[in-house]
Amino acid sequence: MAAEKIYVTQPYLPPLETFTPYLEQIWANKILTNGGPFHQQLEKALCDYLGVQHVALFSNGTLALITALQALRVTGEVITTPYSFVATAHALLWQNCKPVFVDVEPHTLNLDPAKIEAAITPQTTAILPVHCYGNPCDTDAIQKIADNYNLRVIYDAAHAFGVEDAGGSVLRHGDLAVLSFHATKVFNTFEGGAIICPDAKTKQRINHLKNFGFVNETTVVAPGINAKMSEINAAFGLLQLQHMPQVMQRRAEIDAYYRKQLSDVAGITCLPQGTQTKANHSYFPILVSPEYPLSRDALYEKFKKNEIYTRRYFYPLITDFPMYRGLPSALPANVVEAGHAASQVLCLPIYPALTDTQQERVISVILELLA
Ligand SMILES: *Cc1c(COP(=O)(O)O)cnc(C)c1O
Repeated sequence: MAAEKIYVTQPYLPPLETFTPYLEQIWANKILTNGGPFHQQLEKALCDYLGVQHVALFSNGTLALITALQALRVTGEVITTPYSFVATAHALLWQNCKPVFVDVEPHTLNLDPAKIEAAITPQTTAILPVHCYGNPCDTDAIQKIADNYNLRVIYDAAHAFGVEDAGGSVLRHGDLAVLSFHATKVFNTFEGGAIICPDAKTKQRINHLKNFGFVNETTVVAPGINAKMSEINAAFGLLQLQHMPQVMQRRAEIDAYYRKQLSDVAGITCLPQGTQTKANHSYFPILVSPEYPLSRDALYEKFKKNEIYTRRYFYPLITDFPMYRGLPSALPANVVEAGHAASQVLCLPIYPALTDTQQERVISVILELLA
């Protein structure tokens, strides 16, 4: 009998009938987009849930990143990480900025603050770090450098929904932080995203930019884009938000069980938890080193043969893609730790509907060869 397929993630979908009342409301009031009632409600609900002051919703995280750069008028060179989803660097190219890649710290796989200063030039205007897997960056060290050199900081916080450090939401750090609500993320609106803004004025500018630059019926102040979240997506977000406590709880259980079962396996290292006081368990990355009987890629293939579809996040590195690899900062010698992680990382299945039996199946594929 063929085993049922297990993917690295599976979106959380609340019971279908619980979404019907939302749809009925949209059909009744006939407001489909442009900052309608569900859009406003979701912005408010997210402020409360995340513990932040201002949230501007977007149709996806990539447009939110691009708009964040535009809102702060970021130009020239921007320091960023090679170890991320490609959209992080693509947003810079869409804004005509030059990415300057700086290596990551081996234990967090986040941008290494100790290596940032050497990459700063007179053209540098900003830093674009990523809270990789939801583990917080060294936000204090990054802010100190930004203050010294008068740089903006925009966090790609696509993985960091709901993550907190000792001072509260990690999304409060930097000039702006950007979330993604893509179907594969911890909290999803099918497609969606948001910018966390520090003040009402910044949020207003961002609201103009996501609506073509319109400030009123007849005035356009900037070459804005269309990046508004629709009412269907916002309504789904409101419903999804009600389920986040159980979603987070189940993810935490799965994370803890992987750590327990894999702690003594030679050649398998679970990426240590970061400095957060509240985690979101958005991914479960392991590093497969040469002490393990199979290479990372061989283990990945073995999983596939067992109908388990793990993902090599993040391989290839952003610096390996053709539009980046010609940059001096993209040389492998400049991103050694990132390259090392990219060659060893494997993200294991983690999502609320993953059953204990399915998780045992994943673990047994890893343990099998050691018997
Ligand atoms: C998912 C993701 C994005 C892009 O978000 P979309 O909503 O898919 O456009 C950007 N950066 C990182 C790190 C991501 O994981």
